[in-house]
Amino acid sequence: MLFALMLAAAAPTLDAASLQALAAADSRLVTIGRRLAKASAGLCAGTISNPGWTIEDAEQFAPAVRDEVRAALSLGDNPTIIAVEPDSAAAQAGVEVGDGLVAVGGQMLPAASPDASRKRQDVIERAMAQGAATVTVERDGRSVTLRIMPERGCASEFLIGRGRGLRAASSDGARVTVSAEIVSFTPGDDDLALVLAHEFAHNILGHNKGHPPQRIAGEDRSGKRTREREREADRWALYLMARAGYDPAVAPGFWRRWGPKTDYLFSDGTHPGWRDRAARAEAEIARIKAQQAAGEVPLP
Ligand SMILES: [Zn+2]
Repeated sequence: MLFALMLAAAAPTLDAASLQALAAADSRLVTIGRRLAKASAGLCAGTISNPGWTIEDAEQFAPAVRDEVRAALSLGDNPTIIAVEPDSAAAQAGVEVGDGLVAVGGQMLPAASPDASRKRQDVIERAMAQGAATVTVERDGRSVTLRIMPERGCASEFLIGRGRGLRAASSDGARVTVSAEIVSFTPGDDDLALVLAHEFAHNILGHNKGHPPQRIAGEDRSGKRTREREREADRWALYLMARAGYDPAVAPGFWRRWGPKTDYLFSDGTHPGWRDRAARAEAEIARIKAQQAAGEVPLP
């Protein structure tokens, strides 16, 4: 569940094209994140809380631009569904693009107010985290109640955050956040899946308990075992990708493309160098291919 445009600050301008581009990036992120989460079933306890929809709420924008945003994204007064991923829990429940969320998990969403957006998001996130939830939407002037069933997999939110730069990817145990720049830097879904899977692996592996959010590169104060944890997240990312149907073979090329753009910025040594990451990925991909050739689901 994402409110991408909560990061309105990340948009260079608030014109219709920029807003629509951000919304499209958000949908892409939800789709890849949900596929990764679903494919991780069996690797951790829990259920996916992301139902495979993208929601935008005009209330999160300043009053001066709200009408413009509403028109650009065809939003109603309530949080509005702007994308539904095929075959997702939301799609199976019958959620449609344009539906306005009225109540979720039996609780009415708060009416418009200066902090309505945050309160509404809290209600939706809480209900989704609890598993099966009823959702009441307004569609073409009538009220429709649907029931969303949770999917099995490792739960994690995937969202675009306000952070800037190619290094702004992080995980905090419950969510994976990337900057708009990272989404632009990864036009191919396999590349974006690699970045998301690395952060998602930190969450699955419990690397973040009691630590500041992990970052994909750069300063990290989470302890001296960081380098080993980074290698483990890199390794797991490839398996998570393969299980979700993404191609882990993009990893060596990605690290070689990414490394020189980010290396100059960090010298604290917490993350393995990009050459090391690329070489290790190549070795791991061979193991994954062998597992797949033997008809096995890749297992890290
Ligand atoms: Zn990391």
